[in-house]
Parts: sequence; C-alpha cells; structure tokens
Amino acid sequence: MTAPGLGALAARLADELAFLQLPAPRWTPALEHEGEPVLDVAIVGAGMTGLAAAAALVQRGVQVVAYDEAPAGWEGPWATTARMETLRSPKQLAGPALGIPSLTFRAWFEAQFGRAAWDALDKIPRLQWMDYLRWYRQVLALPVQNEHRVTDIAPRADGLVELTIEAGGCTRRTFARRVVLASGRAGLGGPAVPALAERLPRTRWAHSSDDNDYGALRGLRVGVIGGGASAMDSAATALEAGAAQVHLLIRRPDLPRINKGKGAGNPGFVQGYARLPDDWKWRIRHYINVQQVPPPRNSTQRVARFDNAHFHLGVAIERAEERNGALQVHTSAGPIALDFLIFATGFKVDWRQRPMLRHIAPCIRVWKDRYAPPAGADDEELAESPDLGRAFEFQPRAGAHCPGLERVHCLTYPATLSLGVITGDIPAISEGALQLADTLAGLLYAEDIEYHYARIEAYDEPEVFGDEWMAEPLPRAAE
Ligand SMILES: Cc1cc2nc3c(=O)[nH]c(=O)nc-3n(C[C@H](O)[C@H](O)[C@H](O)COP(=O)(O)OP(=O)(O)OC[C@H]3O[C@@H](n4cnc5c(N)ncnc54)[C@H](O)[C@@H]3O)c2cc1C
Repeated sequence: MTAPGLGALAARLADELAFLQLPAPRWTPALEHEGEPVLDVAIVGAGMTGLAAAAALVQRGVQVVAYDEAPAGWEGPWATTARMETLRSPKQLAGPALGIPSLTFRAWFEAQFGRAAWDALDKIPRLQWMDYLRWYRQVLALPVQNEHRVTDIAPRADGLVELTIEAGGCTRRTFARRVVLASGRAGLGGPAVPALAERLPRTRWAHSSDDNDYGALRGLRVGVIGGGASAMDSAATALEAGAAQVHLLIRRPDLPRINKGKGAGNPGFVQGYARLPDDWKWRIRHYINVQQVPPPRNSTQRVARFDNAHFHLGVAIERAEERNGALQVHTSAGPIALDFLIFATGFKVDWRQRPMLRHIAPCIRVWKDRYAPPAGADDEELAESPDLGRAFEFQPRAGAHCPGLERVHCLTYPATLSLGVITGDIPAISEGALQLADTLAGLLYAEDIEYHYARIEAYDEPEVFGDEWMAEPLPRAAE
C-alpha cells in the first residue's frame, strides 16, 4: 500500500481541527500602547516547546507571537549542536501533538513512508525529528518570527511587559501582556563548565553543546569529561571525525544503568507533581539527580565499536595545564596527556549567561531562598531552580521590587522542580503547553472582566424572534 502523503495528512488534520472546533476565534481585546499593537502573549523561543505553547494558545483564541534568534527551521539543538544518531525517546510518544492524532510524529512518518516502515523503525533519527517540527510549524501556520533575538524583558507596573528585540540589524520594542520563556534546556543559564576549564586556552576545550568543529580533532588525543548521553555523542563524533584516541574520563565507578525518570512517568506523575508538598518534590528530583540518567545503549555502542575509544571509570579530573604543545591533565588516577578536552558536563542556571534576563534575575526567587533540604540532600541544581507559582510564573524574592514579574512565565527545564516533567522534554510537552495555555487564557480573561462583562451586556443576537408563538390571555376558569 502506498503512503497517503503529507497532502492527505494535512487534509485529515484540517478535519480533526474542524471537528474539535479549533482554533477558537480571538476573544481578547485588541490593545495598543504608544500606537503599537500589544500582544496577548510573546514567547521567547520557537523550538519544540515554543511551538507547542504557540499552538496551544492559538487553539484557545489567544493572540501570540514566538520569537527565535535562529533561522527558520534551525531552532533548538536537533540540526545544530546535537550529535546523537537517534532520539533517546521512544518513537511512539505523542510529543507536541496536543492530543490531536494527525499532529503526531507517527502520523507524519506513516503519511510519507507507510505503516511497514513505521513498524520497522527503531528510534527516531535526529534530523527526521527536526523535519517533523518544521512540518508541525508549517501545517499549523504558527506565528513565529525567526532571526529575532530578545535581548531584554522588562515587566512594568501597568500590566505590560516590554521586550527589546534585535532583528535585521535594528533594535525595537514590543509590548506583551504575558511573556513565556521557552528558551531551551539551558534557557536560564548555559553550559556547566568546571572552573579548571576557564584557566585553559579556549582553543583547547569545548562544551558538548558548543558549535565545535569536530573535523579539527582529526589525529588528536581527545578527552571527554562525563558519562552521559552528550559525552557519548561527543566521543562518537570525535572518533568518526578521525580523532587518534578518545578517552572518556568518568568520575563514577560505574555507568548508571537505569533511567529512573522514565520509570517515574505516568499520568498521575505528570498531572499531580505540581501539587506535591515541597519535601516530596525535592526528594523525587534529588533522587533522580543522584541516580543519574544512563547514556542510551545505542550511543554507548557507537563509541565502543572504535578500538581507539577508552572508557575510564572512577576517574575524576582535578586540574589541567597546557605544556609543551599539549594538555597535561591530572586526574584522581594519575596524569594523562591530551590535545583537546570536551566537557559533557550539562547545563546550569546562571543568570549571567542570559543577558535578556538581567532586569528580572535579581528579583526572581529560587528554591534556596526559601527551602532548606533535609540533611544529606543538598543539591546545587535544585537549589538554583526558580521557585515558580502554579501559573508557571516567576515569584519575587523577599524584599524585591519588581512589579509585573508574575507576567513572565517559565517553560524551560529548570522549571521541573516546581512543576514536574511538563517543562520541555518530549514525553509531557503537550501537557505543559496545554496547562500553560489554559492558565494564560484564564488569567487574560479574569483581568479583562469588565470588558468581557460589557460584551455580555452588549451581546444582542436573538435566538427566537417573537414570531414563533402567539400570546393569549389565560382561559377563564370555570366558576
Ligand atoms: C542534545 C540533546 C538531545 C536531546 N534529546 C532528547 C530526547 O531524545 N528526548 C527528549 O525528551 N528530550 C531530549 N532533549 C531535551 C529536550 O527535549 C530538548 O532540549 C528540546 O530541544 C527542548 O525544546 P525547547 O523548545 O524547550 O528548547 P530548544 O529546542 O533549545 O529551543 C529553544 C529556542 O529558544 C531560542 N532562544 C533562546 N534564547 C533566545 C532569545 N533570547 N531570543 C530568541 N530566541 C531565543 C533558541 O534559538 C532555540 O531555538 C535533548 C536535549 C539535547 C540538548
């Protein structure tokens, strides 16, 4: 049987949306400020999360624009800095489909390649996932403006948030009533790099998320710090590019085997986590952090098939210096001479790495401002996580004066401690986008209640016209 093609899928999607009466027509008032239209919602980022949030808001009749600094079709890591062959996530996850069957990766895949190819597919190839996201945006005609970098977010006391945006060599201001940060895994910071790297020449090291030229590693001795997914992807890419040796320096005595986060996932966890008391949130996230997420098996095998790949477990890097044209790297197991280091050490909340947040960062309450973990459960990543409210909104630290801060909403990975796994990964991104869209629609309605009440009063479409019946006097009762 031939595959129906994307044209047929688009027609089926249009039917499904029509059956569900989506999208709703716009119902919010068209506001202006200084002669310019005010957006209901501005989204920073049009990766998977920004697209899903934009789609959910459009469905609810809310006016939204998503801004992304990347060129169209190159948002997020998938076709830029990611180096795995396939996604970690199982192929059947519904991802950003928002409950609509024809919006799933599977529908998109089967429309082009058929059911047999779907059955034969193991995991989703990385670049195919990006192609799917490009289609998702295009078929829903989502309001995205690419090559628009948000450089400042300034909430105000008058119910507006002022955004500074750079595009095409110009800087302009835009006003929105609500702002959603969908700026990615490192969206509130950037790479977590140990201090010892900062003392090395920048030509000698990269972070795994850097746009690094792996071709330049040909013939070199490369050290990869870390044992997670990105360590395997970086090591494999260096080996495939012709590195002479790749040494994985892994602090742990063994690689984690079990993905506890995957085991935690079920609809109760997705929907109920945000309602848990702080102690439970901390306990669950800390446990998952301590257990660590194993690298995917296929990524590990991709490295291990090279004879010049070396896994060194229980080896912590202590310091390094450049000497005699190479790096002398001192580890807990002794020294090793290398030419280049790749830090596959993850990301952290670090407001200094996100200049667009400079106005609000000093006001934002993080978990360590109000929560003391039980003895032995200290966790720097969790301590620095923003302490968000149920509307995904930033909350002010004690004593901070930042009117309008609650108009800035966070849908990035660091929101996970407050809100659970709905904040950016494929398994529950639809739930996150839909919850956020429902919440924002509700907030926008409530703050315009006088406008909406006046519309109810002014509403004058008759449903009966008075010509359907004849009024009669009451029949005279028999005496
Ligand atoms: C290498 C890698 C592999 C992953 N694999 C998986 C996986 O298999 N399964 C899974 O569930 N999760 C995976 N993840 C985690 C997560 O799904 C991805 O990080 C995903 O990209 C998150 O989508 P996002 O839209 O939140 O962020 P991103 O895709 O990173 O998009 C954020 C966007 O924001 C834009 N942006 C940031 N700042 C600004 C600004 N100031 N102005 C304008 N635009 C801005 C960026 O240009 C970017 O396009 C992976 C992450 C990485 C890094």
